[in-house]
Amino acid sequence: MSTFIEYGLWFRRQLGSDLQATTVTRVERNDSLFRLSLQEGGSVTSRRVVIAAGIESFKRVPAVFANLPSAQASHSYEGRTIASLKGKRVAVIGAGQSALESAALLHEAGSDVEIIAAISDLRWIGQHGWLHHLGLVSTMLYSKYDVGPAGISRLVANPVLVHRIPMRLRDKIRTRAVRPAGSTWLPERLASVKTSTGRIVQEATYAGQEIRLKLNDGSERRVDHVLLGTGYDVDIQRYSFLAPELVQQIRCLDGYPDLGPGFSSSVSGLHFIGATAARSFGPLLYFVAGTEFAARELTRYIHQTQIVSQ
Ligand SMILES: Cc1cc2nc3c(=O)[nH]c(=O)nc-3n(C[C@H](O)[C@H](O)[C@H](O)COP(=O)(O)OP(=O)(O)OC[C@H]3O[C@@H](n4cnc5c(N)ncnc54)[C@H](O)[C@@H]3O)c2cc1C
Repeated sequence: MSTFIEYGLWFRRQLGSDLQATTVTRVERNDSLFRLSLQEGGSVTSRRVVIAAGIESFKRVPAVFANLPSAQASHSYEGRTIASLKGKRVAVIGAGQSALESAALLHEAGSDVEIIAAISDLRWIGQHGWLHHLGLVSTMLYSKYDVGPAGISRLVANPVLVHRIPMRLRDKIRTRAVRPAGSTWLPERLASVKTSTGRIVQEATYAGQEIRLKLNDGSERRVDHVLLGTGYDVDIQRYSFLAPELVQQIRCLDGYPDLGPGFSSSVSGLHFIGATAARSFGPLLYFVAGTEFAARELTRYIHQTQIVSQ
């Protein structure tokens, strides 16, 4: 973790950027100018804004858990000191890496863990490792970014091509490439963790210092904590800093902005990169690996449009 953070700070020093560490509380647009209000007062105006605000606002909390106290139910995004749940009964909801890895670590730290997942069987990423060791054939099947299964991985690595694919097929490629699954180092570490697949929590109530869960098979669980590894729903309306009038002007595809070349939204001068761009340019944009394309495509577009308008 510290190496990764140091890399980020090193990168910033190399770039010599004039980063101002502050929270943008509002982005509005008046005529052709954007106005950004800053948390500690003051504002900035700009003709162009690039939104790269990540996925924190998009945490998916299924309605059934929405009324539980936050001390007893947390989303995996929030992080948590695993040791604080030692000796506690913890239900981990979900079947992706966040859920499965949390379950393994909690179990090893002495929690009484149960994984509850809607899918009928847990899936593991990288089970066909040998496919990565076939020389030229492997190169044809997998891109260097390694997002998605054999073949799809190659397609996903070309976001410009993905952008041209009809939406229904593009959505299929995206959901297939990032379906819930865990790394292959997890099954061994989860071997003695109770796992209930094909189950959905239908009711969750907090009473008498414990949470009572009712599952779709009629069974019940009593736990001290629910850890939600339930993923994210991209919906730019949930970026509270975007003025509602501005959001209304942005053409969307079920919460994702509909983006064109240079990650341009339907509002001139407003761009979105990161996970919000995945519906337009494919699942590579959900990953750090997608930043290479995002940065180049965005700067190419801005540079070119500046030249044209000069
Ligand atoms: C559990 C998990 C595991 C992952 N594992 C991998 C992996 O193994 N490999 C991989 O390639 N990718 C992985 N990813 C994805 C990776 O984290 C993202 O692709 C990457 O962080 C996206 O970068 P970003 O700059 O778009 O968003 P972020 O890194 O989320 O950065 C967003 C930034 O915007 C800031 N911000 C938000 N709102 C405001 C505001 N109003 N004002 C000012 N600043 C604001 C936030 O503070 C934050 O610094 C993982 C993600 C998760 C959640």
